[in-house]
Amino acid sequence: MTKNNDAQNTVYVLSPSCQIEDLEIGSDYEGVITRVEKYGFFVSLSKSVYGLLRTRNPKEKVGDNVVVKIAEIKPHKGKMDVDLGYSKTKYGTKYEKITVKRNVKRTRIGDISEDNVGRNIAIQGEIIQIQQTGGPTIFTIRDETDLTWVAAFNKPGVRMYPELEVDDLIEVLGEVSLHSGKIQIESESIEKLSEEDSTNLQELIDESIDKKAEPEDTSVSIEESEVLQKLKPKLAKAAKTIRRAILDGRSILVRHHNDADGICSGVAVEQAVLPLLREESNDADAEWHFFKRSPSKAPFYELEDVVKDISFALEDMERHGQKLPLIVLLDNGSTEEDIAALKHAKVFGIETVVVDHHYPGEVIDGKAEVDQCVDSHVNPYLVGGDSQLTAGALSVELAGMINPDIREDIKHLPAIAAVGDHAECMEVDRYLEVAAECGYSRDDLDKIATCVDFESYFLRFNNGRGVMNTLLGLDDRERQEALLDVLISESDKRVETQLKAAMPNVQTEYFDNGIQLNRIDVEKYAHKYTYPAPGKTTGYVHDKLVQQKGEDHPIMTLANGPDFAVIRATEVIKNDYNFNLNNVITKIQEEIPQSGADGGGHEVAGSLKFVEGLEKEVLELFITEVKNLKR
Ligand code: MN
Repeated sequence: MTKNNDAQNTVYVLSPSCQIEDLEIGSDYEGVITRVEKYGFFVSLSKSVYGLLRTRNPKEKVGDNVVVKIAEIKPHKGKMDVDLGYSKTKYGTKYEKITVKRNVKRTRIGDISEDNVGRNIAIQGEIIQIQQTGGPTIFTIRDETDLTWVAAFNKPGVRMYPELEVDDLIEVLGEVSLHSGKIQIESESIEKLSEEDSTNLQELIDESIDKKAEPEDTSVSIEESEVLQKLKPKLAKAAKTIRRAILDGRSILVRHHNDADGICSGVAVEQAVLPLLREESNDADAEWHFFKRSPSKAPFYELEDVVKDISFALEDMERHGQKLPLIVLLDNGSTEEDIAALKHAKVFGIETVVVDHHYPGEVIDGKAEVDQCVDSHVNPYLVGGDSQLTAGALSVELAGMINPDIREDIKHLPAIAAVGDHAECMEVDRYLEVAAECGYSRDDLDKIATCVDFESYFLRFNNGRGVMNTLLGLDDRERQEALLDVLISESDKRVETQLKAAMPNVQTEYFDNGIQLNRIDVEKYAHKYTYPAPGKTTGYVHDKLVQQKGEDHPIMTLANGPDFAVIRATEVIKNDYNFNLNNVITKIQEEIPQSGADGGGHEVAGSLKFVEGLEKEVLELFITEVKNLKR
């Protein structure tokens, strides 16, 4: 270290982490008196450096600040002793202060290994998280090579370095130690980096994290699928965003539609993310703190959900020093109805990923309306596909890019999702083949999808992680079978009860254009507040009626209550009659604005809400539209 000794009034101040090696004999240092004896007093110059100034019966008191000169540094009983003398400069007079920083070469976090245990090192990095344990304060620190944990001890349970916040760039001096098998740095001092050093390090970190977040394997499981090929870059971008959030120490909040397709989507992403979280964190509960999966009650991301999500996130930030989460919407998120909630999240600077297959409205230049407030959007409609490629399938492809290690475990999920969503296309045929290889027949898949729906009805807002994993065949296959048997007989019984009430009250009309329209008042002729709920009941009624005539007949079922309607129709009505439920809803909104009509879904499956007083007008217009369809 070079210092300018010519200036008379220069006094050095050691940083708390400085060691004896940082002292220069003959120079003046500022310190504080920590002990007074008959033969002199001790002056502390940094956390670990102190010296003795010998003098008879000193008048100085403990706690006094002084300026001292380093007279001699000599070995004594295996240690180094510092002898001090009085300086010409008195404490309190005018002098130039220069802070001495400890000069330890920085070690990159990626280079720290168990071989370094016991060594003192310096690391620099960004604070990702601050946790207050019952003992030390734990800082999660990342540099451009890796991340590690820094423990700051003082009084147990007392937050150390309260001036430090998440995102600060710091230098840590401390000893490498092992804590329950993981490397941890026991800090001796932590200091914020200068603005310039911060900017430089931040750039390095950003660059390297970005590289690490890039998915290595972006293949899809059906390479010959044109839609999947076109969606590949979007899936890769979504995978990168999710991987980046994990590396950033942001939590991931998955919201999904509460049906078999939505649950398969959520579980696929969960299976991919959890192992990465366990790897990336020293927190044994990381998978609970940094990942949440919740079903949405509505078939879209509604304000009720987003308000809860954001207020919990802000609370976690306040209480646990967590960053704001990444929100991932699956089998939800693409439609106009999602926009308000997504805009709400944007206001707080929350990043969002949407993987959905619901009709997103008109696509112009590859973009849907919702793209203005979504950061990463995957939807087959954006590349000329349609809803037959389910969210479950897309999410399994996404999960494989996030974490290729779990591809094998979840490859049967797209088939469950497809059967649950009544999807049919070339890709679905291939997914069914894959599931068959895993030992699942179409009937098995149908049973699983039904039981997932059945169980989710009772789970409501709960994600039911353990139960769903069993049902979906992700752990014990024997238990899966046993559980399916229990649930399916119970589900069948309840469906039968609903159908017994509903079927005799279905009214069927045949229009000149060949369409068979079935109508039922599902509020009057079905049991309330029980499984299956009105939407599902409509599905069962529709399926039963379709069974009698065949899938290729133009059959539509319109079930309604006083202020809602559920629509199901065969694919022919979409393909040959060019019917799109979402467009009909737009027309109702335009022609009967006072009805407050709203809703949507797939072209031939979805729901509609309106004010009760305009039930007749809304349904009449709807039926007229169907009557006027041309083949
Ligand atoms: Mn779906």
